[in-house]
Amino acid sequence: MHRSAGLLMALMLTSPAHAAGGRAHEHGVVRVDVAVQGDSFTVNLDAPLDSLLGFERAPRNDKERQAVDEVLARLRSGAGLFDADAAAQCTLGKAEVSAPVLEAGAAAMGGHADIDAGYELRCAQPAQLRTLDLGLFEAFRRIQRIDVQVAGARGQVKATLKRPARSVRLVR
Ligand SMILES: [Zn+2]
Repeated sequence: MHRSAGLLMALMLTSPAHAAGGRAHEHGVVRVDVAVQGDSFTVNLDAPLDSLLGFERAPRNDKERQAVDEVLARLRSGAGLFDADAAAQCTLGKAEVSAPVLEAGAAAMGGHADIDAGYELRCAQPAQLRTLDLGLFEAFRRIQRIDVQVAGARGQVKATLKRPARSVRLVR
């Protein structure tokens, strides 16, 4: 009893985490969901804004506006963030990035806010798909951990990446 209570207390003290809409929100952590289907796969990134930006509200000055623009541009291009095996010949399609709190006049719910980014990749040689390399640690220095979930034809795989790990297996 005492041990688990102590652990719970330690977790509460060290991580500013709370659940929003059933999803965990922990600074320094991002979540990546990969769904493989046929010759294409989708990648969804769900991140506390703090993990990418350092604050979770609309920008208040030019420096913060520039930081927001850089994060949004990086996510919208998706370049270097999600690299599948070269042999699979995958190309990044449309990207959708959503962070309502960054828009002027918006208020964060309870002081916390997330950013979501969704990507679709289509592969000319899907049979060659083995791993996905994540460039998130390089792109965003505040990220310390990536919780990954891969859903494929043979079920789901969960993985946790910590710096400097970057590779996720897509097949078992
Ligand atoms: Zn937060």
